[in-house]
Amino acid sequence: MTATASPTGLTGRTLFPGDAGFEEEKATFNLCVEHTPYVIVRAQNRLDVQAAVRYAAGAGRAVAVQATGHGIGAEADGAVLISTKAMREVQIRPEARVARFEAGARWAEVVAAAAEHGLAPLVGSTPFVSAVGYHCGGGLPIFGRKYGFAADHVRAFDLVTADGALRHVDPGTEPDLFWAVRGGKSNFGVVVSMEVELFPITTVYGGKLVFPGGMSDRVFPAWRDWTATLPEAMATAAMWIRFPDIPQLPEEIRGQYIFHVTIGYDGDAAEGARLVEPLRALSPIVDTVQELPYTRNGEIYDDPVDPGFYVEASGLLDSMDDETVKRVLEAVGPGAENPPFAVNIRLLGGALARTPELPSAVSHRGGSHLMMVLNLAPDATLVPPLTEHARAVLATMGPALTGGVLPNWLGTAMTAPEEVAQAYSPADWDRLRAVKRAVDPGNMFRINHNIPPAGV
Ligand SMILES: Cc1cc2nc3c(=O)[nH]c(=O)nc-3n(C[C@H](O)[C@H](O)[C@H](O)COP(=O)(O)OP(=O)(O)OC[C@H]3O[C@@H](n4cnc5c(N)ncnc54)[C@H](O)[C@@H]3O)c2cc1C
Repeated sequence: MTATASPTGLTGRTLFPGDAGFEEEKATFNLCVEHTPYVIVRAQNRLDVQAAVRYAAGAGRAVAVQATGHGIGAEADGAVLISTKAMREVQIRPEARVARFEAGARWAEVVAAAAEHGLAPLVGSTPFVSAVGYHCGGGLPIFGRKYGFAADHVRAFDLVTADGALRHVDPGTEPDLFWAVRGGKSNFGVVVSMEVELFPITTVYGGKLVFPGGMSDRVFPAWRDWTATLPEAMATAAMWIRFPDIPQLPEEIRGQYIFHVTIGYDGDAAEGARLVEPLRALSPIVDTVQELPYTRNGEIYDDPVDPGFYVEASGLLDSMDDETVKRVLEAVGPGAENPPFAVNIRLLGGALARTPELPSAVSHRGGSHLMMVLNLAPDATLVPPLTEHARAVLATMGPALTGGVLPNWLGTAMTAPEEVAQAYSPADWDRLRAVKRAVDPGNMFRINHNIPPAGV
């Protein structure tokens, strides 16, 4: 095959290295990861996805799929990269409380369409990821403590498998695939569209309480005590950030060390305010917590919107006892000796820990908290040592670590099979590998957090 041979019969475009738009199309959110695909297929519809998969099969190339580039595992070197960015259709069936969206639709678009009917999907902390990519990694919603994992509320999806076939997958037609894709990421094919359940949420009470980082040795233990009193409708996380003193950052945050508590309450604003009162009494320097239309859910976590160079390490904790609080403060609190750039600790529990009606490949449901350690790594030579540093900081949590992680938190550093396996129980890992063998024995879909086919 020559370097310009293209899949035939496409509505969308193919982009080869050097073509206008090639760099933009393959761009990732984490700038430490750079794809160097053989070709990009900018799919317009499911037929384009099928054509791209068949073309890759004919050329003996791996397939990678990317919507927004927010969750890349492996670099798509020499692969056929299917970009779903142009597949953005969203349909709402209000009477059935169902949203159907294509692979490239971002959360913000699904949320806006559902809001027109007084309904809401189970969005995560950022509205800028694709709703399909999020669900394939299990989907930890802001309000997961009340509703459970988003993957548990998927009704059906259409999947293009390694043979180029389009399969309609629901619990009745393809029970193994229905289970595996919801948590097993892109290992089984390309999801071209998905249907999920909607909920009658219109407004929430949320935002951030910001404290000087130096106060975190007092506020973090108070936050831990406070979380023991909360209803499942209250979502919360604790976060430390040490902004470096560099000219690239806006003056107001440059060199600042802050600690903030994220608040999201799915209920009446007055009751939300009553629940938050003990934290407000600790005198935050910034308080953005207010009643918000659900369409402004992105303001709850206020995640970064611009791509950056970063490395991460994440893990689940099974308790936040006094010893763990002490370890967290030693790692990132005011007296920390070699702290990371940021640490985020999300409260889990509630419905996240319960067995759903339609089990999915989200194995680790019992964690009490999810901890993520982040370092900025603007220079490629710093990626290995700063990744090691993030891992070392996480490891200081010692016995509180369950050894598990959620699929959407595998990050760019955790792509070796033994690391990917940490996202699943041994029994689920074996089942995932068996499903993989049945639908993708040649491991065409290996540019991801790869689940090797059983027997390989
Ligand atoms: C700032 C930030 C905040 C986040 N917050 C949350 C959160 O609160 N809860 C949560 O659960 N996750 C969260 N995530 C993780 C995010 O949901 C995952 O990284 C998700 O995979 C991103 O999907 P994407 O398609 O936008 O990204 P992409 O990088 O385009 O895709 C990431 C991966 O998703 C899979 N994928 C994407 N499209 C398809 C498809 N059509 N078919 C099959 N597989 C596909 C593939 O494995 C692909 O490698 C967050 C990520 C970031 C960067």
